[in-house]
Amino acid sequence: MSDCLFCKIAAGEIPSNKVYEDEICCAFHDIAPQAPTHFLVIPKKHIRSVSEITADNSGVISHIFQVIAKLVKEMGLESYRVVSNIGEQAGQSVFHLHFHVLSGRDMTWPPG
Ligand code: 5GP
Ligand code: ZN
Repeated sequence: MSDCLFCKIAAGEIPSNKVYEDEICCAFHDIAPQAPTHFLVIPKKHIRSVSEITADNSGVISHIFQVIAKLVKEMGLESYRVVSNIGEQAGQSVFHLHFHVLSGRDMTWPPG
């Protein structure tokens, strides 16, 4: 999608601090980290949010979670939180599907 921040980051048109990239997804550090480790994993293909996952595109989700499991292992993270905000009321500010991976501090439950 031409006017999407994360499509531009995925395409390398806007710089980011990438920690991983393959043909399906990429991961990069959040510009405003909310924990000592805070990176985002996004599909390269534009999907607006979890609400747009269907039988046709759900393969990207299993792939992204495999990538998360690999990255946290490589980073030595034993405890972490994976979050996806869907819709403005839940805190979504970028409308391109992304999973936050946060680690390195005590977390509260329920999330605010
Ligand atoms: P959301 O609020 O949609 O759940 O998450 C969007 C995330 O993207 C926020 O945590 C925000 O800090 C991050 N973000 C927004 N703009 C940029 C950017 O230009 N570069 C990077 N690396 N992260 C961004
Ligand atoms: Zn996009």
